[in-house]
Amino acid sequence: MTLKLYNTLTNQKEEFQPIEEGKVKIYSCGQTIYDDMHVGNAKTYAAWDILHRYLEWKGYDVFHVMNITDVGHLTDDEDEGEDKVEKAAKERKLEPMELVTEQVRRWYKEMDELNMKRHNVNPRATGHMIDMIEAVKDIISNGYGYEKNGTVYFDVKKFEKEHDYPKLGGRTIEDLETGAGGRVSDEEVEEKKSPHDFALWIKASPEHIMKWPSPWSMGYPGWHLECSVMGSKYLGKKFDIHSGGVDHIFPHHPNERAQNMAMNDMDQEPVNFWLHSEHITVEGEKMSKSKGNFYTISDLLEEFDGEVIRTFFASIHYRSQSDFSLESLEESEKKLDRFYRTLNEVRTSEGGDGTDLKEDIKWIKKEFEKAMDDDLNTPLAMSKLIEFSKKINKKLDNKKSILEEAEEILKELGRLLGLRLEEGQRSTSDGSEDREEFVELLIDIREELREKGEYDTADEIRDRLKELGVVLEDTEEGPRWRLS
Ligand code: AMP
Ligand code: ZN
Repeated sequence: MTLKLYNTLTNQKEEFQPIEEGKVKIYSCGQTIYDDMHVGNAKTYAAWDILHRYLEWKGYDVFHVMNITDVGHLTDDEDEGEDKVEKAAKERKLEPMELVTEQVRRWYKEMDELNMKRHNVNPRATGHMIDMIEAVKDIISNGYGYEKNGTVYFDVKKFEKEHDYPKLGGRTIEDLETGAGGRVSDEEVEEKKSPHDFALWIKASPEHIMKWPSPWSMGYPGWHLECSVMGSKYLGKKFDIHSGGVDHIFPHHPNERAQNMAMNDMDQEPVNFWLHSEHITVEGEKMSKSKGNFYTISDLLEEFDGEVIRTFFASIHYRSQSDFSLESLEESEKKLDRFYRTLNEVRTSEGGDGTDLKEDIKWIKKEFEKAMDDDLNTPLAMSKLIEFSKKINKKLDNKKSILEEAEEILKELGRLLGLRLEEGQRSTSDGSEDREEFVELLIDIREELREKGEYDTADEIRDRLKELGVVLEDTEEGPRWRLS
């Protein structure tokens, strides 16, 4: 079976074929390290973690690069405002590099707790200043960059005539005339040939701390440059997959694409697949510190296991609009507990003579792969895995060897979704899981009644559960319950 991925370059799902047989090279835009990782960042990184795991499972040798932005990202997307790292360092009375060092340590710790596979390279922008300066020189000598008063700009109009810009997301430069990308300061209007031109190198003001010498000025790189430079350096001029959040569809990724083509003087597309992960809302709104709906991963890890958070991420599709709330984590905890209960039951069961679980093993392998091949449909894969887990529970009279095979498959597929499913990881001893098992048993019976058209009895079960404080909702993904 072949994996299909939604490619923003062509606006359609396409069959994935690697450039070099058996190998996949991925670049994912990573964290700007001035602040802690929040739940939205982690949701996007989890999507690329699943992509990485799934490609390996399909037999590819994966090389995955995720950058760490430790300089040059301004508070405003239009190359204006304060440097975010400097601003945060000032607030916390730290040297910028002291802040970055501490934040990088925290980032790795939290990524580990979230069971994200380590990437092959996490290049940092500050470690690639020479490469970036060389790239700007190449862009200028290839005719796509010009310098004004110590700042170097990319000549978008010239590039657009030859190579189609912005291209990603199906947009054209005309779409941008009136939309995003047009807002510039008076100073810049004077300097730039066109309002769409973006900075490759920015001359630093005297008070700017993080700055480096260059042929044009004491300054720092524009915020798109590092990804082009570090991607080409570690993955080559052309590579398979580039991923990021939907906010990167414009301007970050079209600018990266333009820089890559300009600095390497190439007509070919530098990346075959551009993938974008939708942003999650939190409690129905865009996440923001002022609204009080801002959850960092370190806050959440105080209350929930990293594995519960991963169960939530795997239950939503990377391209769908989804909402996060603490209740959704409670829901995820129940799903995760179900897997652990099945694993415990298999471990303690003596088995019997049954063999019918063998068919279910074949079924789950097929269904899981089918779901994942369809642009990583993790919510469907997850619901199939829950169904499989229930089937195992009902068939504990199968031969012990078959039960063990089922256990291994459950673990193997669950781990592709980022779960740990390790023995003894989650204790199940406070009695609440017995109650959950009874509730789920009743819900299963109600589903069977509904399938047979016995709606009155099904409704009665729902009403009686409500009296007992269990609220049941029928959703597209099946019934969901919570305690009222
Ligand atoms: P940043 O550090 O702001 O550059 O963000 C790092 C990554 O997190 C980028 O790929 C963003 O698109 C992604 N991201 C930021 N906010 C959210 C969100 N609410 N939901 C999903 N991804 C997000
Ligand atoms: Zn990037």
